[in-house]
Amino acid sequence: MKMCLFGGTFDPPHNGHFIIAEAIRESLDLNKIAFIPAYNPPHKYGQKEVTPIAHRLAMLEICTRYNEHFEINDIEIRRGGISYTIETIREVKNNLGMGCDDLYFLIGSDSLVEFKSWYKWQEILKECKIVVARRPRFEKEGIDADLLEQVLFLNLPRIEVSSTEIRKRFEMGQMTRFYINDAVFDYIQQHKLYERK
Ligand code: ATP
Repeated sequence: MKMCLFGGTFDPPHNGHFIIAEAIRESLDLNKIAFIPAYNPPHKYGQKEVTPIAHRLAMLEICTRYNEHFEINDIEIRRGGISYTIETIREVKNNLGMGCDDLYFLIGSDSLVEFKSWYKWQEILKECKIVVARRPRFEKEGIDADLLEQVLFLNLPRIEVSSTEIRKRFEMGQMTRFYINDAVFDYIQQHKLYERK
């Protein structure tokens, strides 16, 4: 079995996440994409308030339900504390008996820019293959050559959407329908998730 882990805050999950995930699955002929919502994302910790995990998980469930190759892995929720990727990767490999060759970890290019600040980043590179999805305006200049050599870039669509943009749009009462799943839109409205405080 070949699979890719896709860790994120998913606050909220948006169409960019799913278009990229499915494109990578097709391109690498993977059996599964496992979405791993961060319980407590280290790089977002202290910067802003993250929506409670129960809501982020519920929205992810809505989106992954209809793709047989998508699944949610709640490993970081069960572990609690700060969600370090290296621990997640090792735990998944242990649980599933997987080796490095069959396990990918997907990140967007903004995460690659800050990758060297991730906890034990060198060890992450040894434990799995990192696949990078370029976001609009990304350029390789400014990223260390040794890191570029150790990750995989695929020719994927560049999708101009972020959770930050969607949260802002909700706060401002602007159109968000085409950025997110309709049922997620309804969920956000019903639970008043991104209203201006
Ligand atoms: P925020 O705007 O709150 O930082 P985000 O849109 O980057 O959120 P996350 O849940 O933080 O979403 O992202 C999880 C992973 O998905 C990260 O590695 C991020 O770089 C990547 N990602 C998110 N949106 C895109 C996109 N449109 N194209 C490529 N990668 C993306």
